[in-house]
Amino acid sequence: MSNQLPVEYVEAESVDAVLELLAGDSETRIVAGGYSLVPRLKDGIETPDRLVDISGIDALRGISRQDGGTRIGALTTHDRIAASATVRDHARALAEATDSVGDYQAKHQGTIGGNLVVADPKYDAPAAVLALGGTIVVRGPNGRRRIDAEEWFCGPDETAIEPDELLTEIAIPDGARSGYIRTSEYSGYAIVSVAARLETDGGLVESARVAVNGAKPYPIRLPRVEETLAGGTLDDERRARAADAALRDVDPGTLVANEVADGRHRLGLVRSYCQQALERASVSPAVDS
Ligand SMILES: Cc1cc2nc3c(=O)[nH]c(=O)nc-3n(C[C@H](O)[C@H](O)[C@H](O)COP(=O)(O)OP(=O)(O)OC[C@H]3O[C@@H](n4cnc5c(N)ncnc54)[C@H](O)[C@@H]3O)c2cc1C
Repeated sequence: MSNQLPVEYVEAESVDAVLELLAGDSETRIVAGGYSLVPRLKDGIETPDRLVDISGIDALRGISRQDGGTRIGALTTHDRIAASATVRDHARALAEATDSVGDYQAKHQGTIGGNLVVADPKYDAPAAVLALGGTIVVRGPNGRRRIDAEEWFCGPDETAIEPDELLTEIAIPDGARSGYIRTSEYSGYAIVSVAARLETDGGLVESARVAVNGAKPYPIRLPRVEETLAGGTLDDERRARAADAALRDVDPGTLVANEVADGRHRLGLVRSYCQQALERASVSPAVDS
């Protein structure tokens, strides 16, 4: 175990400066709020030789309306997102997810960018961003890349960002009701979290996106749940049938199992929280695109 700080610490003043520092040096790490990275440095899990602190780059912070959607800067903290009327009105599931962060300091210092780069199965924002059909925007040596959330979460401990890229913002499209719900364990982290986005017309569901985190090692969509919902009315019976379909969407052999909850317990939680997320989404206010 190493408690040594890396040899070099740089406070970057611009996105271009960050990209220069990242170029060609895989031992450089970005630090934003430090709530995921610092514990890993302390435990010797990460041993970079340079830290680039991006917390002073104001261009990476803030929430605005853009191109029929909501844009959130990578450095925006969970509490700012949870408190934002714009996010609550246009991307409710993300407001609810960020509001669920169980630790006071992590909620006030941890950023959405760091949360999505790490995308731990215990984290709240990933399921919401996936269900909402979010796009993650990164900048690197070859310019800007816009990555669909579906491609972003690509494997255990893996997201689509390259070591020489910086996550700059997240874009969430308008036009749907949505809701988020999660279980809590003693530490304040989620065991399982589910987010749902419903495009509705009158009482009918035109299309649905439902995502879960904490079932597999990375967030996934639930296609059978979505198929069960599409084209039908959102009554109790259909919500229950959709939640049952979640059991077929999650391969029991790949469930996360640890000292907090075994796979069987998690599967039960997925079903129950899927139903609750759908209830939340169905009573959330409609959003005009
Ligand atoms: C006690 C505690 C309780 C917590 N509870 C919860 C909880 O209930 N729910 C929850 O969701 N989370 C929880 N967290 C995690 C916390 O939300 C995340 O750690 C935080 O959001 C990560 O953001 P950060 O700014 O601190 O990232 P950092 O720790 O600074 O960075 C994390 C990783 O992302 C990279 N990175 C950061 N920003 C960028 C960027 N813009 N571009 C490219 N790479 C980047 C870093 O290089 C690093 O590898 C908790 C953390 C702690 C310590």
